[in-house]
Amino acid sequence: MLDLFSIFSKGGIVLWCFQSTSEIFSPSVNALIRSVILQERTGNNTFNHNALSLQYKLDNEFELVFVVAYQRILQLSYVDKFLNDVHLEFRDKYKNELQGGRHIMDFDFKTSFDKVLRDCEKWAKSQPKIQMRSFEDSQKSKKTVASMIERKGEEKSKKSVKIVENKNLTNGKVEESPEAEDDVIALNRAKLAQKLASKGKKELPKKSPKSPKVERVKQPRVWELGGGARDLPNLDRGTDRPGDTPDITPDTQLIGQMTGAIRDLEVESEESSSEDEVEQSAQPAAKKSGGMFSIFKGLVGSKALTEESMRPVLDKLQDHLIGKNVAADIANKLCDSVATKLEGKVLGTFDSVAKTVKATLTESLVQILSPKRRVDILRDCMHAKEQGRPYVAAFCGVNGVGKSTNLAKICFWLIENDMSVLIAACDTFRAGAVEQLRTHTRHLNALHPEARHHGRKMVQLYEKGYGKDAAGIAMEAIRYANDSKIDVVLIDTAGRMQDNEPLMRALAKLIKVNEPDMVLFVGEALVGNEAVDQLVKFNQALADHSSSTNPHVIDGIVLTKFDTIDDKVGAAISMTYITGQPIVFVGTGQTYTDLKALNAKAVVHALMK
Ligand code: GDP
Repeated sequence: MLDLFSIFSKGGIVLWCFQSTSEIFSPSVNALIRSVILQERTGNNTFNHNALSLQYKLDNEFELVFVVAYQRILQLSYVDKFLNDVHLEFRDKYKNELQGGRHIMDFDFKTSFDKVLRDCEKWAKSQPKIQMRSFEDSQKSKKTVASMIERKGEEKSKKSVKIVENKNLTNGKVEESPEAEDDVIALNRAKLAQKLASKGKKELPKKSPKSPKVERVKQPRVWELGGGARDLPNLDRGTDRPGDTPDITPDTQLIGQMTGAIRDLEVESEESSSEDEVEQSAQPAAKKSGGMFSIFKGLVGSKALTEESMRPVLDKLQDHLIGKNVAADIANKLCDSVATKLEGKVLGTFDSVAKTVKATLTESLVQILSPKRRVDILRDCMHAKEQGRPYVAAFCGVNGVGKSTNLAKICFWLIENDMSVLIAACDTFRAGAVEQLRTHTRHLNALHPEARHHGRKMVQLYEKGYGKDAAGIAMEAIRYANDSKIDVVLIDTAGRMQDNEPLMRALAKLIKVNEPDMVLFVGEALVGNEAVDQLVKFNQALADHSSSTNPHVIDGIVLTKFDTIDDKVGAAISMTYITGQPIVFVGTGQTYTDLKALNAKAVVHALMK
């Protein structure tokens, strides 16, 4: 039984609605709009929210959304058919009104709705049921215990296991056939054996194929002398002793460059405002890459777009995205979402399929990269200051991605904006980590000497050496900052591989006990599928190990080494898509000023060219 059926315009006007209970469904429908339709995740037409399952169909010609909601425990096999039929019925009945753009009127649809629903329920009843077989009928009765013991050499037969999916059953139920049953048992046994082998390890979401993981070992730092790295001369950690007064000649040119909000990443070419932006950006690519888009030239549409007509374009675009370092799985989902969004849309006479698909994908990508909420760290710091407490940000990520370097850049930006900072050295594992931060602290203070700031030391380091509990050090640092009226605490944590459970547990503890205002994940722009794996697992570990009903997971991303990737900017998309969290900072080099804010349009431009 359906609980809710609603037809609304993409602009949010409800055209018609049916409810079989007095329950309030707006939170679930709003969640569907917010988390799926507005976030370009419409590749899959089912969305679960609390105890409800919501299924939807988009009408891209009239910009409508058809939604049904029913209790998740129910297995309603007719919902897909019902959505199709009711959609057609509504279109047929009100074609003229919809063409005239009349969305606000009294649609007398109840009789038609009841009829379509009744027909679909009848249809579902007439469908052949999956019969439960008696034990005697089943192959299991013929099995002996001995036959169920796994032996070597069985692997071959397992490889040929296939599950037959009955396409008529809309919920994707597995059709049981006597022949298939043996295979299913074999498959389940294989799964059990696999589970036992990986006992103790938490099962994590499936991921797309990727190159074998290599344990990251921190490489010795090579700081360039002169040029862009003048403010950070070679760091000789071996001779670095507490209390050293280094001979630092700060690059005064840097001072004052980072006041105010972080500058945007630069757009490579002049912004083109015309609708043809996509085509224009496609043309140079076509020339350069031997005509990547030229194959679409013949695909000129005049009728409604179909999945079939879009497929060649979507496949090409998917490969193009993967080539730009977007994780394969995400490239696939993005293209599916574009197909759902466009299916049924009628093209203008001069619109080609390729142009429309590409423009829609471009739009979706900009949407994904645009922050869903306000991120204004300076304002939040001021707000915390007014409350008489320090603003706290924790940095996490795997080894060598640039946590400490970018923490130092963010620190520079903060002191440029007159915020005093305490760096909490909570990487108590890696030899040299504390000294690295101490060196940064000295250089940063040299750039902003106390005199310029009314006798305040702008940056201080809170460290307790190595081997201690990081969560405890962070807590002491926050207390110290609170007592000393320091505005911001930046917590540097040890780099850790996403699969290292004890270290991930320790990170979750640090975050849980210290409740920072912002948990920043630092990730390299160089990685493709690996970025998704890291983020998913960091988020998952923070949720799993926090033992809280409302765990604090990643709030934002620092995307580093953006200067090293040319136009392979796909990691930005993968990271924001997977977390829904914004890229707050982009690291673009090895000086304190190489810190930028993400410019969604610039990134998408580089991605699509
Ligand atoms: P951590 O182990 O995550 O703290 O990594 P580090 O901060 O020590 O950085 C590792 C290496 O990456 C260092 O050589 C940094 O100079 C370099 N690095 C960090 N951020 C950037 C960046 O935005 N661009 C470039 N080109 N290199 C960077």
